[in-house]
Amino acid sequence: MYDYLIVGAGLFGAIFAYEAKQRGKKCLVIDKRNHIGGNVYTKEVEGIQVHEYGAHIFHTNNKRIWDYVNQFAEFNRYTNSPIANYKGEIYNLPFNMNTFNKLWGVTSPEEAKQKIEEQRKAANITEPSNLEEQAISLVGTDIYQKLIKGYTEKQWGRPANELPAFIIKRLPVRFTYDNNYFNDRFQGIPVGGYTQIFEKLLDGIDVKLKTDFFKEREELEALANKIVFTGMIDQFYDYQFGVLNYRSLKFETKVLNDTDNFQGNAVVNYTDSETAYTRMIEHKHFEFGKQEKTVITKEYPMEWEQGLEPYYPINDEENNTVYKQYKDLADQEAKVIFGGRLANYKYYDMHQVIGEALATVEREFGK
Ligand code: FAD
Repeated sequence: MYDYLIVGAGLFGAIFAYEAKQRGKKCLVIDKRNHIGGNVYTKEVEGIQVHEYGAHIFHTNNKRIWDYVNQFAEFNRYTNSPIANYKGEIYNLPFNMNTFNKLWGVTSPEEAKQKIEEQRKAANITEPSNLEEQAISLVGTDIYQKLIKGYTEKQWGRPANELPAFIIKRLPVRFTYDNNYFNDRFQGIPVGGYTQIFEKLLDGIDVKLKTDFFKEREELEALANKIVFTGMIDQFYDYQFGVLNYRSLKFETKVLNDTDNFQGNAVVNYTDSETAYTRMIEHKHFEFGKQEKTVITKEYPMEWEQGLEPYYPINDEENNTVYKQYKDLADQEAKVIFGGRLANYKYYDMHQVIGEALATVEREFGK
């Protein structure tokens, strides 16, 4: 008999299993996929670590979380500085002095602020009623038209003037020549990929891959005293209050044999509406790779339907209300712990999942 059956070998499940093992507990970890690591999984192709489920850049402000992951891998000095490609025009992201210089030829922060202010005033929007108006009221028309509109419409599959304003609460605008996307103290990519972290976390723990909890629920539940569930919460409760909605993605990965450097940057965002994909990733640049070949991945946003990978929860009022009903049931469970992005129906970055997993461990076992 196991102490815990852990459904999901992603970050939440693997950390819980590791910490439980440290405390003498016996765990069985299952995952329906054929690999460990969840969406953080990386696979070696042509000597390059390929981020199978989209670009994953580790960043955090929390020293405890940074020290925690550094136990399992050495992190390099990668700093995320994505490039925007708008119909062949190249701009730096996040919006900063380099972007403003390229857009308007301005060289001082004062001039850039004036330009944005002029465009905000000209648009004359007092109460933004949709995402388009919200974005223009925050950063003006030029940035909106070239860098936000097409990207956002592809991401959500709807025109920006039909999307709710709340999706964009604020837009990071920086009046320095600084292309670092994140503001956090710590940032990097594990040298040799993310999967080694999971191999170490799950070392000595029973793991069963290609095992879907819902296909053998009764047999699996009988194996352990408690369950840690990191799958979809609506499915756990047999969709009794309805299905929670997501946006999905399709990844198209190619090895390029005739070039060692295709786009000169790890992440390029395509911000026009004609290009069907939102991003192109060139994986070797996450690790400053010098291999002869290169591997690229195009990322296409898609409508989600059952059977597709649920990537981004749609946290609008309707879905959040349905989630709340499931959460109320979950709160009453004595033998099931829910954790991670699918069970909490919440977009989490990696450092947030680690924080949540460690807090759950403390609640379960004490400090
Ligand atoms: P998951 O990684 O999804 O793990 C859950 C696991 O449970 C999966 O392996 C799944 O197969 C398994 N499972 C589900 N249901 C069942 C079932 N019924 N039976 C058996 N197994 C099941 N974070 C960052 O910090 N930086 C980034 O740059 C970043 N980029 C991202 C880019 C994309 C495109 C996406 C989608 C996410 C990104 N993230 C990033 C977020 C990161 O992927 C998550 O924080 C992390 O994967 C969450 O871990 P988790 O354990 O909650 O979920």
